[in-house]
Amino acid sequence: MYQIRIEFTFDSGHRLLDYNGKCAYPHGHTYRAEVFIESQSLNDLGLVYDFTDLKDKIKTWVDENWDHAFLVNSQDSELIAGLGSASLVRLYEFQDENPSCEVMSRVLYEKTVALCNLVPAKVRLWESVNQYAEFSGD
Ligand SMILES: [Zn+2]
Repeated sequence: MYQIRIEFTFDSGHRLLDYNGKCAYPHGHTYRAEVFIESQSLNDLGLVYDFTDLKDKIKTWVDENWDHAFLVNSQDSELIAGLGSASLVRLYEFQDENPSCEVMSRVLYEKTVALCNLVPAKVRLWESVNQYAEFSGD
């Protein structure tokens, strides 16, 4: 089995709605994403998938949607109204879900499927140097 991995970072703000603790406050992270692709075979070029192509597609989507944006639960009307009234604020809404590291890893997995027409082995998303969430689709 061959495995390749791409890695990139981005900066986002978020908070967890109805959470009892520090994550209920708006705050931000420098996230580190890892996308793992596995294959039993290689293409004619000897590749599982072109690294540059893979990174370009996924990173472009993240840059346009999550990087330097505020990630919000669509039910967080207070935060959406507050940030929405400010200029130069990018909001990305998660439909009825908190923008947790777990949910974000699943969305990134789904975006990889849609953008690259392949199913990743897993997506790992680091929220800090000490903790990450993974989604594998299993
Ligand atoms: Zn957080």
